[in-house]
Amino acid sequence: MNQFGNMSMSHSSWPILLVIYNLPLRLCMKRKYMMLSMMISGPKQPGNDIDVYLSPPIEDLKLMWDQGVEVFDGFSNETSKMHAMLFCTINDFPTYGNLSGYSVKGHKACSICEEDIISQELKHGRKTVCLRHRRFLRSDHPYRRLKQAFNGHQETTSPPTLLTNIEVYEKVNNIDHTFGKSKKKSSVTNIWKKKSNFFDLPSYWCYS
Ligand SMILES: [Zn+2]
Repeated sequence: MNQFGNMSMSHSSWPILLVIYNLPLRLCMKRKYMMLSMMISGPKQPGNDIDVYLSPPIEDLKLMWDQGVEVFDGFSNETSKMHAMLFCTINDFPTYGNLSGYSVKGHKACSICEEDIISQELKHGRKTVCLRHRRFLRSDHPYRRLKQAFNGHQETTSPPTLLTNIEVYEKVNNIDHTFGKSKKKSSVTNIWKKKSNFFDLPSYWCYS
């Protein structure tokens, strides 16, 4: 968000809101029950360095998962252990790249297809797009036979095999990434840019 005017691009601050998902449905999206847990101030967006800002809440989440914290219940007049885990993040696509460490630009920008991407450049708009997602449908799905509504062809190929959580972890585990604005650019081009610190959360990938 930009708190200094509407469309001026000169300032970018990122609020991080925490929503408690095990409240009743009628309550959990009310402003009263959302927490502004962090405000990453501008003037520039954090980009891939967002991990540095997220370290304190991730430490808290680790504590909440492993040991839990004592909370007092005023209604029953007793204390209990509260545990919590990160369920999901809601963000736009560029931020998805910053949070996951996956490159969301260029010819391999689709994180669903990853290495098996079939991308193409649009003839007139010159944009790179990934138009082959009908291959994820079951083989007799009627959409696979439609031509005009999609890219002019029927879709007969089978979907790429999905990576397991361990396979994704192995891809990012050995990436050498230093946070901050360094002049030195890595000579190896990798579609994974860093090991996101969400991987430090056991609840995020170990036990799914
Ligand atoms: Zn794709």
